[in-house]
Parts: sequence; C-alpha cells; structure tokens
Amino acid sequence: MTIEKSIKEEDMVKKLAFFDTKPYDRIWFDRFNTNYEITYIENKLNKNTAKFAKGHDAVCAFVNDEISKDVIDALYQEGIRVITLRSAGYNNVDVKYAYEKIHVVRVPEYSPYAVAEHAMALLLTLNRKIHKAYIRTRDFNFSLNNLMGIDLHNKTIGVIGTGKIGITFIDICKGFKMNILAYDPYPRPNSDIHYVTLPELFQQSDIISLHCPLTDETKHIINKDSLAMMKDGVYLINTSRGALVDSDALLAALNSGKVRGAGLDVYEEESDLFFEDLSGTIVKDDVLSLLVSRPNVIITSHQAFFTEEALEAIAKVTLGNLDDYFANRFMSNEICYRCEKVKDKQKCLRERNSRCF
Ligand code: NAD
Repeated sequence: MTIEKSIKEEDMVKKLAFFDTKPYDRIWFDRFNTNYEITYIENKLNKNTAKFAKGHDAVCAFVNDEISKDVIDALYQEGIRVITLRSAGYNNVDVKYAYEKIHVVRVPEYSPYAVAEHAMALLLTLNRKIHKAYIRTRDFNFSLNNLMGIDLHNKTIGVIGTGKIGITFIDICKGFKMNILAYDPYPRPNSDIHYVTLPELFQQSDIISLHCPLTDETKHIINKDSLAMMKDGVYLINTSRGALVDSDALLAALNSGKVRGAGLDVYEEESDLFFEDLSGTIVKDDVLSLLVSRPNVIITSHQAFFTEEALEAIAKVTLGNLDDYFANRFMSNEICYRCEKVKDKQKCLRERNSRCF
C-alpha cells in the first residue's frame, strides 16, 4: 500500500505557482508546457502573496518578485523546494538564505542579442532624437531644429561588463566602427577587447553602456563621483539593473549638461511600477517623474529582453530546469551564493556536476 501510494504521488502532475503573470507569459508557457499544472497568479511574489504557493510543488518568479528571507521561509513552510526564475539576473533572491532550503534555478542565457540590440536602439534613438521626430512628423512639423545628433563612428564607447550581453553589444558597436573600451574584473582571456580601469573608462568614453550584474560592488557604480570623472556631454545607457545608477546623481548630471542623454531600460525603484499600466494613476515617484519629463531621457520599462526568440527560450529553459529538478538530475542552471564565489576559488558543488546542496 505504502509503495503504491508513493508511486501514485510521484506520477501526479506537479503543480507550479507562476507569479507576476502577464498575458504574454501565458502564451509562451502554455505553448511549451506539457508536464505541469500551472496556476497563473497576477500578483508579484512577496511576503503577503507567498501563501498563494500553498498546494503547489514549485514556484516560478520574475525579476521584480521579492524572494527575501521572509518569502523563503513562507515558501518553505508551504513545502516549496524549488524556485524556477524566468530571468537571468537574480539580485532579487536572497540566495544565501535559500541555501540548503530551496533550490533556485534560472535562465542564464536566452537572447543576449535581444538586450544588446535594445541597448543600441536606445542609443540610436537618443542620439538621433527619433522619439522627437516621430511625434513631430505626425503633427506635420517637419522642422529639424534641436534634432541634431553626433556620428557614432569613431566615438569611444565604454562597456562595463563583458559577459554574454556586453560582448554581443561590443560586436554591434564594432559594426559602427566605434572605439571600444571595456571594464570587467574578470576580463575575457585571449580577446582583442581593450580593457582599462574603471576610472579610465569613465574619463575617456563618449558613451557608457552598463552590462554588469547588480551586486554590492556594482550598486551605484554610476554615482556623483564617477559622473564627475566623465566627459562633458556623455551618453549613458543602462539595460542591466536600475540600482547600478544613483538616479538623483544622474538627474543632477542631466541638469548640468554633464550627461547629454540617458537611455534607461531599468530603474532603481522599478519594482512596483514597471510592467504595469499606470497611465490612469498619479505616480508618486518624483525622481522617475523628473526623468520621464526630460526630453533627453528615454525610459523603456525593462523590455530589453522582450523578443519572440527570448520568450521562447525563457519558457523552454524555465520548464526544462523544473524537469531536471523533479527527475533528480543535475541542474546546470542552479545558482547559490557559493556559485558566485567560484571565480574566487571557493568551489561550489555544481562545479563537480552535483547540485549546489
Ligand atoms: P553575464 O553573467 O554573462 O555577464 C556579466 C559580466 O559582468 C561578467 O563578465 C562579469 O565578470 C561582469 N562583472 C561582474 N562584476 C562586475 C563589476 N564589478 N564591474 C564590471 N563587470 C562586472 O551576464 P549577462 O547575461 O551579460 O547579463 C548582464 C546583466 O544584464 C544581468 O546581470 C542582468 O542584470 C541584465 N539583464 C537585463 C535584461 C533586460 O531585459 N533589461 C535582460 C537580461 C539581463
């Protein structure tokens, strides 16, 4: 009887609590899901909503879900032992606290092209003022006044972070025949990339684009001091994480003209705002309101990843990660706080093709 019962339990379809669902998530996950019963929950995951995971076997979360100590405890109490992130970044997860409680898996790569191409789209739009021209010509205003840009050819672009997205962005910049400088504490070996120190990058770049993760080290990497080092009239592009930039310092630099323009796909305080239609409400974030009001700031709401190819890959890998977990296989996309230290020689078990714990 006991054996029969356990076999039946194993055969039961696993239930996935899918937080922060948007209509496009359903389309792609329903298309590729064959193994799971998915409950699509519109709420973001936080300490108030973690209880919705009750009765499920796994949780799927996105970038603005808050996977803090409280949430990890609440999910653990509901029997959740795996969280599958449908994102690459995981700064919203307390991975140290999750260690030995809940396995966390992610989609390390889905389309670096999606993000890198969006970064270039922001730069081109900002520089050639396409956003203004579009509005003008719809109103039959064919004046060119104040639409002048600069050639990107021969300009120096500083790329911070040369991982999958940074390197793809560099390839795009090469097509524009730009001079490329890069900073990364872990430079790519045997590459032709011209690495410099961070201060050198700040001092020499006409354009700076951020492609590093958000960590304690990189938080506010763009701040009052780094902005002061930059050339007058620098362009700043951020498609990585909002908190890489101190928004108040950026506003001051936009006001003084130090920064000629900023293309921001992410914002420090985006979690309650981005991905939602707030057009009928008063948004009480004054810094964001000031940024939005600047003609030389383009904000997109964390849409750099948003291509068909990326969403297909995200759905397939997110579900595949769960398959690995429930089949007791090695999880190549697992993350833990020790994985992060691999480069510092503190080995994680995953290095030995084992689960992180
Ligand atoms: P990756 O892990 O391949 O590359 C990150 C690079 O940053 C690595 O080379 C790493 O060594 C480097 N790095 C680490 N610390 C650094 C520091 N202090 N200074 C400079 N570089 C540092 O990651 P990726 O796939 O290229 O993604 C980069 C970031 O893009 C992610 O962390 C995520 O925050 C962001 N992202 C945004 C979107 C979006 O839709 N806007 C989508 C995906 C990823």
